[in-house]
Amino acid sequence: MDFELTAEQKSFKSTVKSFTEKEFKPNEQILDRPEDESEEIIRRLGALKMMGIAVPVVYGGAGLDSVSYALALIEVSRWCGHIGAVMAAHSLYCFTLMASGSHEQKVEYLLPCASGEAVGCYALSEASAGSDISGIRTTAVRQGHEWVIDGKKEYVTNGGISSYCVVAAVIHDGGDGKEIRLFVLDLRATPGIRLESMNDQVDTHAFGTSGLVFEKAKVSERALLGQNDNGSGWIRSSLDMVRIGIASQSVGIGRAVLEESIKHAKTREQFGKPIGSFQAIQWKLADMATELDAAELMTLKAAWLKDNQKPFHKEAAMAKSYASDVAMRASIEGIQVFGGYDYRMKHAMERRMRDAKICQIYAGTNEIMRLLIAENLVKGT
Ligand SMILES: Cc1cc2nc3c(=O)[nH]c(=O)nc-3n(C[C@H](O)[C@H](O)[C@H](O)COP(=O)(O)OP(=O)(O)OC[C@H]3O[C@@H](n4cnc5c(N)ncnc54)[C@H](O)[C@@H]3O)c2cc1C
Repeated sequence: MDFELTAEQKSFKSTVKSFTEKEFKPNEQILDRPEDESEEIIRRLGALKMMGIAVPVVYGGAGLDSVSYALALIEVSRWCGHIGAVMAAHSLYCFTLMASGSHEQKVEYLLPCASGEAVGCYALSEASAGSDISGIRTTAVRQGHEWVIDGKKEYVTNGGISSYCVVAAVIHDGGDGKEIRLFVLDLRATPGIRLESMNDQVDTHAFGTSGLVFEKAKVSERALLGQNDNGSGWIRSSLDMVRIGIASQSVGIGRAVLEESIKHAKTREQFGKPIGSFQAIQWKLADMATELDAAELMTLKAAWLKDNQKPFHKEAAMAKSYASDVAMRASIEGIQVFGGYDYRMKHAMERRMRDAKICQIYAGTNEIMRLLIAENLVKGT
């Protein structure tokens, strides 16, 4: 068993590390304010091919592997979980195109996003469809050579900054059958699409989450993804991949919590000693470090399985749920290490806690991850 990264993975990790230290360190807290623009940073990440890490070069990406994708999200999220979320949601769009798009669709819709010129988003959730996507009410009705889409999507990460979107809708193609299918479309060039801001959430200020309203939005028949296959298969395989991204985001957030907690434990003195000399604080740091190492190994293993064309559905769900639970536990203990100093808004640790919380919810809640894991265990897969 080889735990060493390849030379290419090491070199990419160090490029991302230098970038994030230069870009994020001076602006760390600014990225939390709702009015702030994260677009410029995203543009610079794009110039480094970091918005298309695991996308083949021919479609505008960096042509690297899933392990490199995970390493990049860990490094970015160490500084800023919000930008980590932008990258993860954008990668979900890209993975869907990679898995289900035709060559022409990839050239038209994947290339501009993977090359960093544009941002993509993924609109699956609705008021009636969260964990259970059979509740999707958005419809796509075929009219001649077009599909007419009607409905309302919620919680679309990157909605406000995206040019392109993958949207899930129930198709009615004239027969009795109803089926959930995915469409890809140009948000700005398609009439009948309205954006609704949802920026009233606990977290995710820097990227914004939107509602997308489709009112007789007409797209060409070429917008349908996976022409001859079923949509829910593609939804599942792209979500597997992005769960590796969310696990990585969680590891990065947890690493930041640990680093800041160690620094504080060494410098804050009570009873004439640094608080890090008290066993109660030492155990918190030891538990955080142990769990984070386990979470990182699980995350990189899931990515390695994917890179080696082995099944990784269960492992991605395990990594996502475990790593986000670890990040959440670490951030709560981190606040305890900081005491009253950090029990204030806009301090690093409370921001990390908000960053960690969303990782337990999106891309499938951790309860749903446990259902998937158990289902695979029972099936013996
Ligand atoms: C900040 C943010 C960004 C998001 N970004 C996107 C995005 O870009 N695109 C997108 O399509 N969606 C996005 N989402 C939506 C997200 O994926 C959903 O919130 C998530 O899937 C859960 O759905 P829900 O919120 O409707 O919760 P529900 O499905 O209503 O679940 C509520 C609770 O019940 C539990 N539960 C539900 N069913 C079961 C069950 N069978 N067994 C056990 N427990 C169960 C859940 O785990 C949860 O704890 C985002 C959400 C947020 C908050």
